[in-house]
Amino acid sequence: MSVFNSTSFDSHELVAFKNDPRSGLRAIVAIHNTALGPALGGCRMFPYASPELAVEDVLRLSRGMSYKSALAGLPLGGGKAVIIGDPATMKSRSLLLAMGEFIEGLNGQYITAEDSGTSVADLKIIGERTAYVSGIMDGSQFGGDPSPYTAQGVFYGIKAAMAFRHNEDSLQGVRVAVQGAGSVGRYLSKLLIAAGAEVFIADLNAANLSLAQTMGAIPVPVADVLGLDVDVLAPCAMGAVIDEQTVGLINAGIVAGAANNQLAMPIQGEQLRQRGILYAPDFVINAGGIIDVYYQRAEGSSNSSAAHVERIGDTLQEIFARAEKTGVATAQIAEQLAEEIFLPPVKTAAA
Ligand code: NAD
Repeated sequence: MSVFNSTSFDSHELVAFKNDPRSGLRAIVAIHNTALGPALGGCRMFPYASPELAVEDVLRLSRGMSYKSALAGLPLGGGKAVIIGDPATMKSRSLLLAMGEFIEGLNGQYITAEDSGTSVADLKIIGERTAYVSGIMDGSQFGGDPSPYTAQGVFYGIKAAMAFRHNEDSLQGVRVAVQGAGSVGRYLSKLLIAAGAEVFIADLNAANLSLAQTMGAIPVPVADVLGLDVDVLAPCAMGAVIDEQTVGLINAGIVAGAANNQLAMPIQGEQLRQRGILYAPDFVINAGGIIDVYYQRAEGSSNSSAAHVERIGDTLQEIFARAEKTGVATAQIAEQLAEEIFLPPVKTAAA
């Protein structure tokens, strides 16, 4: 299969493959676009069923990072790395060091960070061989974990959506259903409850659910959370949660959560619009983490992250307003807005 023929190929600038038989490393780095700066994106480790699926994933994810960073107002491009293998059984120190050498060889065009299947501890090992690692800062309030900043951004996004839809600045008494009581879901619940919201939460993991409960969130069955009669639905578990079947179940007027790729297909963005549901595009509202990872690297601290994360609310307001004016789905408007930022203008013939 040629990368150029892949359905996920979108004029990526560079795709690099690494095979290191000694450590067992098989990895791919994709750099989508560096118009705004070096490509930053996480390093995912996953037991892909085939190399083709790994290529599709890295192409799709790196493209997504270009859009996310552009709309977050960061001087960064979009990139991503994938390691092919089961993190539970194949991850070793030698494999991570080889990954560091691979990234170092790209001379700073790509900066890596944590993603599913890799931890801050793994990134520190990768960092023994490359300077191009971010999000591993020690001594910060949250020890390098971007989740609190992601949750903070989602919180601002919910506020922006409530202000846009209901002209309401306060979250007092607002009912929010959170799907997923993981790192982001729990931080978000804490912020919402402190702001006076009533939070309903569901998780497959009983331990995480009970941690959320101790914060004051009300547990609900996993099967019921999407259809709850609430003001806001905040998907904070996994992707593709809004599909052909579930889009009609949603009773909330606003969908605003952290999960990546919440829409199974782009058409679901239009279906939400037609149902009068205001959707905060995932790659805009969940950018708090990448903003913090950027500041950890650029300034060696998270001090500037909080003010920057707050701007997520302004960006969403702009997207909501444009979508309303044009009658186009918010997710599509967000993509257009990002492309206006990172794609060079098309040259027209001189008049
Ligand atoms: P996490 O793994 O800590 O938590 C996810 C939680 O969702 C887990 O408790 C899991 O049991 C639960 N879950 C899985 N399937 C579920 C289901 N069907 N119903 C209910 N609960 C279910 O992950 P996280 O770091 O909290 O991230 C949450 C989401 O936000 C993910 O989609 C992630 O990709 C996205 N995201 C996270 C960050 C970040 O900074 N952590 C940044 C951007 C996007």
